[in-house]
Amino acid sequence: MNISKMGRIICISCLILIVLISSVGFSYAVTSSELNQQKKDIDNKIAEINSELAGNKDKMTTALSQINKLNSEISSYESEIKGLNTQINNLNNEISVKQANIEEQEQKYKEQKELLDKRLVALYEDGGSSYLDMLLSSEGLTDFISKYYMISQIAEFDQELLESIDNTKNQIQAEKNSLDQTKNQIQDSKNAVEGKKSSLATSVNQKKSLVSDLSAEEAELQEQLEEYEEHKKEIQSQIAKLATKYPTAVAPSAAGYISPLAGKTKANITTGYGSAGYVGHTGVDFACAAGTPVLAVKGGTVVTSMAKMKNGKYVSYGEYIIIDHGDGTMTLYAHMLAGSRTVLAGQKVSQGQQIGKVGSTGNSSGNHLHFEVFANGSRTNPTQYLP
Ligand SMILES: [Zn+2]
Repeated sequence: MNISKMGRIICISCLILIVLISSVGFSYAVTSSELNQQKKDIDNKIAEINSELAGNKDKMTTALSQINKLNSEISSYESEIKGLNTQINNLNNEISVKQANIEEQEQKYKEQKELLDKRLVALYEDGGSSYLDMLLSSEGLTDFISKYYMISQIAEFDQELLESIDNTKNQIQAEKNSLDQTKNQIQDSKNAVEGKKSSLATSVNQKKSLVSDLSAEEAELQEQLEEYEEHKKEIQSQIAKLATKYPTAVAPSAAGYISPLAGKTKANITTGYGSAGYVGHTGVDFACAAGTPVLAVKGGTVVTSMAKMKNGKYVSYGEYIIIDHGDGTMTLYAHMLAGSRTVLAGQKVSQGQQIGKVGSTGNSSGNHLHFEVFANGSRTNPTQYLP
């Protein structure tokens, strides 16, 4: 196992741990953005592994095409070797023929030599043989010289024949030597080609082992990918569960605000800010069923949580809450249901935490949430902050 795989496994374990903790503990609105973040992280990991897999596949394709090229070079060397072997075999045949010729000449030489030896022996040693008889039976010196000359002519002829056989043999030997030399040259070429072939075979084996490493790596990556995909499914099912609880989950705005009403966005505003609604409208209105949970759009500290009353009757904002988010912005939630406020001034709230319910207390003609945003103390158009 390499370090990067170890890292991934630790990472997966952490993510699983986070999901386990979040599914037990915190409020759903908080885990929703956490889960989305986790899903994003896993998507990034999956993209990373997929790109590694693609790189791996490229390397494998390259190696396989190199193997094919090497193999085709090897088979061309093999056919070259085959051709050289044919030449060597042909030369071997020719050399065998020459060898047989040489032996034939040697045999001839041997026979001729024996014949000559016999004649010489007969001439010089064996007194009873025909040459001496012929000399002894000569009549007078002239006859003797003439006969002697004839005999020496025969001996000379034998000698010449012998030399001629020897010459032929030497010539064949020279031809054979030249064939041997050619054969050795071809053998050298063949050895060189075999050397090249064997070095290519080594390259092929190296490439094959590379491919096998890449395959193993691919299997490992595939396994990791499956783990991530499985984990992504878990998170998606968690998100789906949250979506059932809060039918249309809306992602936070760029300002980091979520909607004060689950599933609603600024597109659901029923009365706009300022002159977009009516002149002097200090916030935006969301018409909504009584009792709908009102959520803190961002974490912060409650600065006001009160019921505005006059002579025992709700007036102005009615039941309302102001939260300071500590980033220069504050939000105000008004006309909430009588007795629905669940937080007190000074209390810390987290994003998405329920702080009350939609109602129609105070200066209101129907159930709705009146929502305001203060930026550095001044009222501002909430649509710049809402998702
Ligand atoms: Zn309003």
